Amino acid sequence: MPKARTAGVPFLIPTDRPPARELLFAHIRTTFGTLAGFYGFNAMHVAPLLEASTLSPLAKAGLLEEVSPVTAKTKTGEDFILRPSTVLLILAAYGPYKMNDLPHPLKVSCGGEVFSLGTGVEGRLKTTSEEGIVMIGEEGPIAEAEIVQVLWRALQEFGASAERVRMEVSATGCTQCRAGFRSSFNAHFRTRLARLCTACKRRFKKNPTQILTCTEEKCAALSATAPSILDFLCEPCKKHLRGFLEFLDEIGISYFLDAKYFREGSWYHQLIFRIVTNDAEISLPEAEGVADGMVADAPTDVPTVAPTGSAVTRLRGMVLAEGGRVSKAGELLVGRRLDAVAGVLNPENIERARHAWKLPDPEPPVPHIFLAQLGEYAKRKSMNIFELLRREGIPVRESLGRDSLKSQLTVAAKIGARMALILGQKEAIDGTVIVREVESGIQETVPQEKLIDLLRRYLKKNGE
Ligand SMILES: [Zn+2]
Ligand SMILES: [Zn+2]
Repeated sequence: MPKARTAGVPFLIPTDRPPARELLFAHIRTTFGTLAGFYGFNAMHVAPLLEASTLSPLAKAGLLEEVSPVTAKTKTGEDFILRPSTVLLILAAYGPYKMNDLPHPLKVSCGGEVFSLGTGVEGRLKTTSEEGIVMIGEEGPIAEAEIVQVLWRALQEFGASAERVRMEVSATGCTQCRAGFRSSFNAHFRTRLARLCTACKRRFKKNPTQILTCTEEKCAALSATAPSILDFLCEPCKKHLRGFLEFLDEIGISYFLDAKYFREGSWYHQLIFRIVTNDAEISLPEAEGVADGMVADAPTDVPTVAPTGSAVTRLRGMVLAEGGRVSKAGELLVGRRLDAVAGVLNPENIERARHAWKLPDPEPPVPHIFLAQLGEYAKRKSMNIFELLRREGIPVRESLGRDSLKSQLTVAAKIGARMALILGQKEAIDGTVIVREVESGIQETVPQEKLIDLLRRYLKKNGE
C-alpha cells in the first residue's frame, strides 16, 4: 500500500486486465495507432507521474475542476500529480522538447492510463485508459474535423456503427460569448430556483450549467427553455462552429447540435464534441463492476450506465470518444498562443458498449501447428525448431514443459491444432522430425531441412 497519497483517499488498485481481456485493449490500441498514423499522427509516450507544478497553471485557471487530479507527496516533500490526461501532457511537452521547430500542424498521438478522483463516490481513485490525438498549430475547424474523422473511423472499426452511436457537438464559446450567456442563463434559473431538485439547487450555487445534465423531469423541463449558448456565440465562434459542421457534412458524419451539452472546468472548451452510445437495454454481469468505481465512466456529470434493476441496465449516452479545442490549456502550459485540438477514445467504455451490442471479444489466433517433444535432448533441440518456424513466419504452439507425448497431443487437439511435429530422442539425433496429422494420426518422418517446405505446402493446401 503506497504511503504517498492524498489524505483520506482510499487507494484502489489500478484496473488490471488479464490476458483474455487485454486482447481487446491491445486491438483498440494498435488499430487506433495505425489509423492515426495514417493520418500523420506520430506516437509519443508521456510519463504517468509528473511534478505537480507542471499542471498548476491549469488548476489556477480552473481547467482541472471537472476531474479532480490525484496528487501525491514524496518522503522528501516533492509534490507529484498522476496524469489526469495524456493529451495535456503532449501540450506540456511542447516547450521542453522544442516541438516548435517541427513542421506544423503538428500531429501527435498518445495513450495510456489516466487518473482522477471520482465525482460520484467521494474521493475514490479512478483509473481509466485513453487513446488520444492532438493537433497543434491549426486555427481553423479542419483541425476538429480531422480529429473527429480519426475517432469516428476508429470507433467504426470497433463495432460502433452509425446506428449504434451518435455524434454530439456543442460550443462553450470564448470569454466574450460566455459572459453574456452566463448572466442570461443564471437569470433564467434564479427566478425558477424553487422548482429545481435539491442537487440542482446546489449546482446553481457552484456550477449552474451542470443543471443541464440533470435527468429529473422538472429540471430537464426547465433546462429545455433555458437560454442556449449557441444563441450567444460571437461572430468568430459562430463561424468556427459553422465551418466544423460543414466539414462533418462533407465527410458524412451526422451530428446533433446539442445546446444542453456544456462543459465547465474542463480543458476542452470553445468547441466540444463527443461520440456517445444510442439508447439500448443491456445486461451487465456483476464482474463489470459498474458500481465499484474502478471502471471507466464519463468525466462529466452525464449519466453513463444508469441501473434500473439488478441485472438489466440501460446503456444511455455512454461516452466512447470526446474532444474539443484545447488552445487555452496549451497557452497556459506553453506560455504563448497555441492553437490546439485534441480528442480521445475511452477504451473501457468501448468494451462495455461492445458487450451491450453482443460483439464477441477478440480471441488469440490458433496456430494449426503444434510442436511436441520427448526427452531432455529433444526438448533442447526443439527450441531451435520453434525459433526456425518463427523466423519463417509459421505460427506454432509448443508445450515445452510437458513430458508425456500423450498429454502433449491432447493439448494439441484441444487448441485445435491440425498438425503435430514430434521430436523424440532419435529424431533429434538423426536431424529428422515426425509430422503427424492430429485427427487421423497419420504420420511420417521427414528431414528437418525439408520441414519448412512441407509445412508451407500443407498450409497453402488448407488455405491458411
Ligand atoms: Zn466567442
Ligand atoms: Zn435537477
